Amino acid sequence: MIFQGEAIQVERRSDDIAHMVLDLKGESVNKFNQQTLKDLDAALKAIQKEEGLRGLVASSAKDTFVVGADITEFVTLFKAEEEVLIDGLVKTNAIFSALEDLPFPTAVAINGLALGGGFEFCLSCDFRVMSEKAKVGLPEVKLGIFPGFGGTVRLSRLIGADNAIEWICTGSEKRPDAALKDGAVNAVVAHDKVLSAAIDLVNRAAEGEVDYKQRRSIKTSALELNNIESMMSFETAKGYVASQAGPNYPSPVLAVKTIQKHAGMTRDDAIKVEVKNFASVARGPVAQNLVNLFLNDQALKKTAKQWDDKAREIRKAAVLGAGIMGGGIAYQSASKGTPVYMKDINDEGLKAGLDEAAKLLRKQVDRKKIDIEKMANVLNDIRPVLSYGDFANVDIAVEAVVENPKVKHAVLKEVEAALPDHAVIASNTSTISINSLAKAVKDPSRFCGMHFFNPVHRMPLVEVIRGEKSSDEAIATVVSYARKLGKSPIVVNDCPGFYVNRVLFPYFAGFAMLVRDGVDFQKVDKVMEKFGWPMGPAYLLDVVGIDTGVHAQSVMAEGFPDRMQQDFHSAMHLMYEKERYGQKNSKGFYRYELDKKGKPKKLVDEEAIELVNSVSAAPQEMDADDIINRMMIPMCIEVARCLEEDIVASPADADMGLIYGLGFPPFRGGILKYMDDVGMAEIVARADKQADLGNLYKVTDRMREMAKNGDTYYP
Ligand code: NAD
Repeated sequence: MIFQGEAIQVERRSDDIAHMVLDLKGESVNKFNQQTLKDLDAALKAIQKEEGLRGLVASSAKDTFVVGADITEFVTLFKAEEEVLIDGLVKTNAIFSALEDLPFPTAVAINGLALGGGFEFCLSCDFRVMSEKAKVGLPEVKLGIFPGFGGTVRLSRLIGADNAIEWICTGSEKRPDAALKDGAVNAVVAHDKVLSAAIDLVNRAAEGEVDYKQRRSIKTSALELNNIESMMSFETAKGYVASQAGPNYPSPVLAVKTIQKHAGMTRDDAIKVEVKNFASVARGPVAQNLVNLFLNDQALKKTAKQWDDKAREIRKAAVLGAGIMGGGIAYQSASKGTPVYMKDINDEGLKAGLDEAAKLLRKQVDRKKIDIEKMANVLNDIRPVLSYGDFANVDIAVEAVVENPKVKHAVLKEVEAALPDHAVIASNTSTISINSLAKAVKDPSRFCGMHFFNPVHRMPLVEVIRGEKSSDEAIATVVSYARKLGKSPIVVNDCPGFYVNRVLFPYFAGFAMLVRDGVDFQKVDKVMEKFGWPMGPAYLLDVVGIDTGVHAQSVMAEGFPDRMQQDFHSAMHLMYEKERYGQKNSKGFYRYELDKKGKPKKLVDEEAIELVNSVSAAPQEMDADDIINRMMIPMCIEVARCLEEDIVASPADADMGLIYGLGFPPFRGGILKYMDDVGMAEIVARADKQADLGNLYKVTDRMREMAKNGDTYYP
């Protein structure tokens, strides 16, 4: 044994090849945490001292190779002083360069996922042999950073600047064929041959059959580009990458600039450039927010998994109502492997549901994501029915009929009678209280809410709403079904609007008052889109449906009259009276025409502008910051209330709920993270400044206390 650590061990093989095995104790996957880096440093020092070695081969004892750096360590690391961060990166890079500089050939057997730091380790070896089941990549941009362990240097020299920019700036995981084609790996072999092939390659290199020194020198030299080529490819790349990433995500463009700057340098100088730029982007707000978001997502998954023990197995599902939502849920269920009955009251409804599923599947076939056989199987797993005939073998039924309490009560009664005793019943209502719907069923313990977002196949969030009488088993089963559908569930308590709509409507109310006071609605849209929302409030209302908006607003006004009751005629209500329902009938705050791809295109509509003016005060100019405050403060306060009232269980649930349910700008890390960044004292001061606008701008006592104590939602 040459070295034995907590994460790495190195053995001397009988053919004098050192075999380094990565196997982080106590973890299901390998990651480059501080312990692994410490071990790697010590292991390399031990290897350097060992006499007579002919080569080194590295492999993993886990199913994956190395999934990346340990992101939990990023939180404190990225907050460190610049010199401290740079110092740490210099030391880590020295370890990776020491691996690259070993006086004999090195190869790595990539048996599974090798991402981020894990793939940068592979890049430091002379040869990369990849299993046909593995994937490799540098996904750092997804965390607002870019590779910092020499990845921008080695990959650009290995596969060329253009390819490296594509790999690094998209952060995509590469399959073996793509990795081999670009030259990022040397061979792709059958899964069980990956280690033996890597050993064979090292042996051949040690015997001089393969020139490892030449390959190594490519990675340690400057990039070979003439000036014009260099100018053209980098300038074009910067423009393209900037347009793809958008102004709020700086790291991809900085990655291109980094590669451009160090292109003419040899390895050690090039790494200095990478380290410096990495430190600047890592210490910026976007990286810190995206890391926060990643950790929140992990927390969400962990919380959802904790329900597993109590969940019942779901072999067969049913959805009631084959409309927009029911059709979407049936499609999602069947395509993720749970066969589903789709019930409606007439053939037209069923046909519309099936047509929608077929359309979505056809798109996937066209994009080569699935084959025709899979499409046929999925469609086969959606059984359209007009009666409850076969419901005795259903484990979960999701009600998605029209938003009418009477109809829902009747349907819930009927379905309960048709289901076996163990089956769970969930309603996809968006506004009707779960506790009131629970009265429709004999056994309310098996009933809860399961609130999907439109379009179901695309929106990741599902709110699981716990009624007063819902059992843990019912909640657990719905959480487990949501996960089976590939969704991120959060469990919330019952209240008008549940969590997401409860905090969305105060935001819409902020919008209604801005428009009432003469602020141009198109300007508000532009400002809020610049803030990072996928669409501004007027556009969003058009997409949600003005009729739906009016209905939900009335539910919120009834539930929270102190702040949601409106004593003026809002633009949204006027649109409704004029039968401008938004995208669904091609006119609302904007008008819509179908583009060549059949997608609705938003256009300015003079008639809508006139209508809005008729219910607004004289036009007034307002600063973007004031617009943002008037829009965001009511939402911030309502989120704080939901947390204080235990509607949502944690800041992670609250933040991910809005990111996954509404598209709250991810680069801001979440709404509570945004409040932390602005500072509670400042939020309270901004709210107090708008006190004239009424209770929507009245902060809670707890918020005032937090402001006084300098408290934050996140540590
Ligand atoms: P929809 O009008 O598109 O579909 C409703 C379907 O229910 C129709 O096909 C109708 O024929 C069918 N139906 C009516 N009575 C029925 C009965 N007795 N048995 C079986 N089917 C019956 O409506 P939708 O937009 O799909 O909304 C369905 C539910 O989902 C509503 O509760 C709504 O609030 C909720 N929801 C909608 C959205 C959205 O954006 N559309 C989002 C989240 C939740």
